[in-house]
Amino acid sequence: GKAIKNGIVNIFLHDIRDESHDNHRTVDDYPFGGGPGMLLKPEPIYNSVESVKKNHIIPDDTPIILLSPQGQQFTHRKAVELSKKSDLILICGRYEGFDERIRENLATEEVSIGDFVLSGGEIVAMSVIDAVSRLIPKVVGSTESTENDSFSEGLLQFPQYTRPSNFRGMEVPNVLISGNHAKINEWRRRKSLLRTLERRPDLLNRATLTEKESALIRKYRQRMEQADTTGYAFKPD
Ligand code: SAM
Repeated sequence: GKAIKNGIVNIFLHDIRDESHDNHRTVDDYPFGGGPGMLLKPEPIYNSVESVKKNHIIPDDTPIILLSPQGQQFTHRKAVELSKKSDLILICGRYEGFDERIRENLATEEVSIGDFVLSGGEIVAMSVIDAVSRLIPKVVGSTESTENDSFSEGLLQFPQYTRPSNFRGMEVPNVLISGNHAKINEWRRRKSLLRTLERRPDLLNRATLTEKESALIRKYRQRMEQADTTGYAFKPD
């Protein structure tokens, strides 16, 4: 909201029904070959994109993104890529989805937010807009930061604590209240690596790690395997 108010981000909504020219403002029709549900017709969607391009001055290479569960998985990396574009066109589906010709000859790419099916693309568009906007400079204030977020360096974020330092006997790790920033950074990086290894080892294949960090991961992996075979709990350190 603040980013829009401050003119950093603009969002324009276009009702595809405005581009349908019959009395009922029809945008959907039955699938050829039969089957349940209705499909979005090509004409209103093509017209919508053409009128958006005409009414807003946007570069020719503006991504025209079809939101669909069949698309490429939306990730932090994709959000970073999209945040560098001056404009984006997001096409939200409904019903059973789109006539294939929209996919083939209008959209430049197809994006999914996960392996599940929502009723429409509106919530998907909001997710994409939020994730992309917060990567644009000055959208996120200094009280919040995107630098340390999970995925920003290809890893999950380290564990975080706030006051009180002792809550119902649960203590904050000593290092975090030591005031020693070098030690704190080292602890955080180690926890980030460990958390990623435990929860999302797939991310480690693409993360940029130092030689020392790769050695640490190998050590953790060995200990995990040992824990698996012996039945003892995995103890990283
Ligand atoms: N029949 C379609 C299929 O199997 O691919 C699903 C249609 S879904 C009910 C209606 C619309 O919601 C889609 O066209 C798309 O715009 C949006 N949608 C639903 N789930 C989505 C997801 N995981 N990612 C992106 N868009 C999604």
